[in-house]
Amino acid sequence: MAFDPELATQAYMATLKGAARARSDAYFEGGYWLILWGFLATVGANLIVLQLGWAGRLSKWAQAKAGPMLAPLLFAVPYLLLITLIMAPYTVYTEFFREHAYGLSNQNFAEWGGEALIVIAVDTLIAAILWMGVSAVIRRFPRGWWLGGTGLSVVVLMATITLAPVYLDPLFNDYKPLPDGPVKTEVLKLARANGVPADNVFLVDASRQSDRISANVNGMFGTTRIALNDNLMKQDINEIRAVMAHELGHYVLNHIWTLLLGMSLIFAASLALVAAGTPWLLARLGGRWGITGMADPGVLPVLTILASAVFFVATPLTNSLIRVHEQEADIFAHNAARAPDSFARIAMKLSQYRKIEPTPLEEIIFFDHPSGHTRVMTAMRWKAEHLGEPDVR
Ligand SMILES: [Zn+2]
Repeated sequence: MAFDPELATQAYMATLKGAARARSDAYFEGGYWLILWGFLATVGANLIVLQLGWAGRLSKWAQAKAGPMLAPLLFAVPYLLLITLIMAPYTVYTEFFREHAYGLSNQNFAEWGGEALIVIAVDTLIAAILWMGVSAVIRRFPRGWWLGGTGLSVVVLMATITLAPVYLDPLFNDYKPLPDGPVKTEVLKLARANGVPADNVFLVDASRQSDRISANVNGMFGTTRIALNDNLMKQDINEIRAVMAHELGHYVLNHIWTLLLGMSLIFAASLALVAAGTPWLLARLGGRWGITGMADPGVLPVLTILASAVFFVATPLTNSLIRVHEQEADIFAHNAARAPDSFARIAMKLSQYRKIEPTPLEEIIFFDHPSGHTRVMTAMRWKAEHLGEPDVR
């Protein structure tokens, strides 16, 4: 009988059933609501800070203490910490208790909390510096600031991506060169064959946080690093090859640049909308909030409310931009690793925390990676066109 990719996909789908499937569906579908609740929580926290007059008073204090250049920085640090504090119950529930409820975390509260404090410190610092820059652009170009603001945001994003493998990632995990052995040999073979600098594979102790199987390509310019995690290291050699071929695909296909370009366009359109909406909102509520205008450092919570609204609406666009890149990397992986069944088995293992068979519309709106069904179907379609070839594993 001829090989039918559709039937082969169905056979894979049938291996995830009952309580296990119900649990991964529930975990992932709950995430749909978290997009809404996260948006509402952000708006709520910022409205509290504005309505109670805290933002207005904090801004006056910052402007009394420092000149126009540094006042935004002086405003942003306490403001961001205040928002973090108001949102803490939501963050603790979604990132700690919910992960434990689904058995997806290996950390106790102290371990998780320690990492959360580092994240808060780093995020606050980066955001405050960015706000200092954007404020300077707003003072200079009160109307066209969204364009300069986009440029600055992209520069800060690129700087963060470049510095992450060297300064940020090691704050959370140990990265060691992959030890000699069959895995290193196979990964380096794949890398060399596809023109990737071959001395650059790292092993990361991700089991410290969770059992999730993963690998990544992080960094840019000189810092790019390909890493696989210790949960992946425990899998079959051809499953490791399939995953690493996917990661190499991101690298070979220059996804960092096409993603940055796509994100820049989304940023620019979003900030243009925010720039149009802010004066309108300030004209109605600025007096009540004690925010004097666009040049007031305390306008940041107003911008944050509008930006969260725009990014909330843009969720399907952002997810689709990333998902299309992931699908490309999957196809690259099949051509490079030639291990469609190993790839399909990994896709099934990843479906522990991602709904495996969504509707097409659900996948477009909510998925930043192809669903398990799409990934297995892509693998089986590739397999159907390479039947009987001796090097297919
Ligand atoms: Zn990927």
